[in-house]
Amino acid sequence: MKLLDGRTAIITGAASQRGLGRATAELFAAHGARVAVLDLDLGAAEAAAAALGGGHMGLACDVTDKDQCDAAVARVLDAWGRIDVLVNNAGITQPLRILEIAPENYDAVLDVNLRGTLYMTQACIPAMRDAGSGSVVNMSSVSAQRGGGIFGGPHYSAAKAGILGLTKAMARELAPDGVRVNAICPGFIDTDITAGKLSDDQRAQVLAGIPMGRAGRASDVAGCALFLASDLSAYCTGTEVDVNGGSLI
Ligand code: NAD
Repeated sequence: MKLLDGRTAIITGAASQRGLGRATAELFAAHGARVAVLDLDLGAAEAAAAALGGGHMGLACDVTDKDQCDAAVARVLDAWGRIDVLVNNAGITQPLRILEIAPENYDAVLDVNLRGTLYMTQACIPAMRDAGSGSVVNMSSVSAQRGGGIFGGPHYSAAKAGILGLTKAMARELAPDGVRVNAICPGFIDTDITAGKLSDDQRAQVLAGIPMGRAGRASDVAGCALFLASDLSAYCTGTEVDVNGGSLI
């Protein structure tokens, strides 16, 4: 059964070769969705969209820029007339300690992760409201739930925790319009964001804290995104779903 037949989806930060957004785009396309791949670099976004097969589109969009978010959403609406699913996946980390965080570090991390989530959702809400349906999936992190970690930095934890608050507030406000908003909290997933950042000892230490004993795969997160995007989760809104191999048990 194809879960997203006839649906359209926008996924931000979806050009990265091994990334969660890319894996989600691939799974959505396999389930019948037309996918708009948004990312910073137009060529990379177009290549990622082309790799999904025909009928998809790649657009340049820096999610920290409200005008670019509005323009990208307008392009999708012009072409396809509807937006059923938005996945706010674009994110950056900075492995800094508290006293190392300069104002520009704080701005950069909160802008991409948190401000971008707001801007893209604001851009999609009118069309979803008009349609009386829509699913927004926000990429938070286990860093929001237990703080820190080796990769992100405290400002990353703050941004990802902010996403959880924003998710619940938007879910509450948009529920009467038929628009659902949920978050995913991935644990330690093998992607470019985590690759090469740990010594063998550090990696072993991280894995020792995961009851399932392995790092997550991008496809593990994509499967959860598909559930939240599709009607399988029709009565779920304002939730956060952990995809972390049991890291919080
Ligand atoms: P990734 O680096 O592979 O992908 C992130 C993508 O976001 C890249 O394609 C990048 O170009 C894009 N991007 C960066 N800034 C952007 C901007 N301003 N506008 C638009 N796009 C921008 O990382 P990933 O591991 O696939 O992470 C995807 C999401 O999942 C992020 O939000 C990340 O914080 C979150 N996450 C990842 C992990 C993990 O272990 N990999 C764990 C928890 C949460």
